[in-house]
Amino acid sequence: MEAKELLERAARFHGHVCPGLAIGVLAAKYVLEHGFNFSPNEEVVAVAENDNCSIDALQALLSTTYGKGNLIHQDYGKLNYYFYNRETEKAIKLSFKNDVFTGKKMTKNERIKQLLSSKPEKVFNIYEIEYNPPSLAQIEDSIPCDICGENTMNSRLMFYNNNSMCIPCYKAQRK
Ligand SMILES: [Zn+2]
Ligand SMILES: [Zn+2]
Repeated sequence: MEAKELLERAARFHGHVCPGLAIGVLAAKYVLEHGFNFSPNEEVVAVAENDNCSIDALQALLSTTYGKGNLIHQDYGKLNYYFYNRETEKAIKLSFKNDVFTGKKMTKNERIKQLLSSKPEKVFNIYEIEYNPPSLAQIEDSIPCDICGENTMNSRLMFYNNNSMCIPCYKAQRK
């Protein structure tokens, strides 16, 4: 599929077209053309070191989604994207290049246009990396918080003053 078509598809999910979305579209296009497929389950897992507009392109085009647990956000504020294919055990990293827009005065639309017409190799540093994906999303029991009574994932309960409590209640008790 052409980059323009992918951008339209991603924009239906994201709500608007922007340079960030275009970056995600290019990343998704590259991985789709290099041994990765749309991921109805958890066949592919993406790790993104940012949470900007680009992430929505990954969700829409690769189905690496927050809800399924096959999209992991590492809050490092870096334009790095890692993709792991659980079926082929292939892994790649895309890192947005520093100099894509430097020295040029460009409007938003010009940036989008430039991105869409660029070869992925011009926009990203691309590496084959070791296959060490994050573990699969876990399903775990929920237990009512002793303070508010709301069901809370076991691993998120805090033990404080002889009570098991959810994180908001724990924070309120500690005030
Ligand atoms: Zn956006
Ligand atoms: Zn609570």
